[in-house]
Amino acid sequence: MKSDGNPVLIAGGGPVGLLCAWLLGRCGLPVRLFDNNAEPQADPRAATTHPATLELLAEDGLAADMARVGLVAPIFQFWDRPSGELVAQFDHALLKDDTRYPYVVQCEQFKTARLILDRLRKFPNVEVLYGHEIVDVSPTDRSVAVEVHGPGGVKSHTGSYLIGADGGRSIVRKQCGIAFDGFTWPEQFIVLTTPYDFEAERGYCYRSYFADPGAWCNCFKVSADGPPGLWRTVFPVIPEQSENDIMSDAGVQARMQKFFPSPQPYDIIHRNLYTTHQRVAQTFRRGRVLLAGDAAHVNSPIGGMGLNSGVHDAFNLADKLARILHDEADDEELDRYERQRRHVAVAHTQAQTIRNKRLLEERDPAVRRRNRDELRRQADDPVLARKFLLRTALFESLREADQIA
Ligand SMILES: Cc1cc2nc3c(=O)[nH]c(=O)nc-3n(C[C@H](O)[C@H](O)[C@H](O)COP(=O)(O)OP(=O)(O)OC[C@H]3O[C@@H](n4cnc5c(N)ncnc54)[C@H](O)[C@@H]3O)c2cc1C
Repeated sequence: MKSDGNPVLIAGGGPVGLLCAWLLGRCGLPVRLFDNNAEPQADPRAATTHPATLELLAEDGLAADMARVGLVAPIFQFWDRPSGELVAQFDHALLKDDTRYPYVVQCEQFKTARLILDRLRKFPNVEVLYGHEIVDVSPTDRSVAVEVHGPGGVKSHTGSYLIGADGGRSIVRKQCGIAFDGFTWPEQFIVLTTPYDFEAERGYCYRSYFADPGAWCNCFKVSADGPPGLWRTVFPVIPEQSENDIMSDAGVQARMQKFFPSPQPYDIIHRNLYTTHQRVAQTFRRGRVLLAGDAAHVNSPIGGMGLNSGVHDAFNLADKLARILHDEADDEELDRYERQRRHVAVAHTQAQTIRNKRLLEERDPAVRRRNRDELRRQADDPVLARKFLLRTALFESLREADQIA
């Protein structure tokens, strides 16, 4: 089915929406993207970009630019907080024959979004409209219309297809009546950002996970505004605590001191609280409306999989849409997008992120011991360690998706 001249509409100018716009725009297709913010949001969410994702982002030097403005992190550590023991260390160098990127790149998602935006500007066929909120969606058999609230009031736009990349609260998903099945974790996650140098002071690498039956922690480094960079620590917050207590100076100092005792108070640059869900949309496609990224699936950040899998959605979807609109593939290809990416969301992203959280928060001493033994066994055997990394670096999920007809 050839393009009817209507643009592909995209709801959401987060990294996934922008990436869809870039991938379709470079194929010469007309694209119009709407985002309700004035510019990409700079809150401290995704940073970890896995090797399989870097492979996809290699084109036009994007992965290289992300490494330049971010940090290269080849090592991944698991610690046991109560004993202070380094349980296991995985070095992505083991993947040197599998990928050009045997490391993770820690690049804050707003930097990735800006790098994509810079590339988008080369394409006159792509319009990026910030300050525009989609308020209504009306799909028909031949097109999709959206009502958009922008600086000039409410206007209607018609597209050949609509990609809902408008995040976890997606209005596109809701207006299409697509259920978002799953659950919400009872505890929120707090992110505390500090310049305290956990590498120099404590020997932690740029990505360290801490198991603790009291309260687990993920600790990782981002480049921020340049050397020396900042460290982000992510902790669970018990539901009984009030938000005021949690976010107060005394509350954040107590949390840091309990986990990482220090004679000095911590300099806390940012404190952010997130409600975290495990949910997957019932379908990723309703006619001419497609869902991608957080609009289609949300999960806990433990494992750094949310945005990575959103990027994988974007590549899969844009390739199929471009071929359909260039009359090189049938519209049913989009059902395959749904089969491939929904399978990954359920069988990989949901399953793995839930497992990661359970691993870090386990309370039973016997299970905790078994978990440590298992991690050590995998880290100590190069064959098992490579297998572990092929899964966590997301090569396995991409390979599995490829095999789905
Ligand atoms: C603490 C934390 C740490 C994380 N760390 C990682 C990590 O290391 N690695 C990883 O892979 N993932 C991580 N994630 C997940 C990652 O942040 C998300 O998966 C990612 O933001 C999804 O991108 P997106 O473009 O789909 O959605 P978003 O980034 O949410 O973007 C959606 C955009 O749509 C806009 N929008 C919403 N409604 C409308 C509307 N009606 N009209 C127009 N625009 C609209 C929004 O304003 C927003 O700009 C983390 C998440 C958290 C909370």
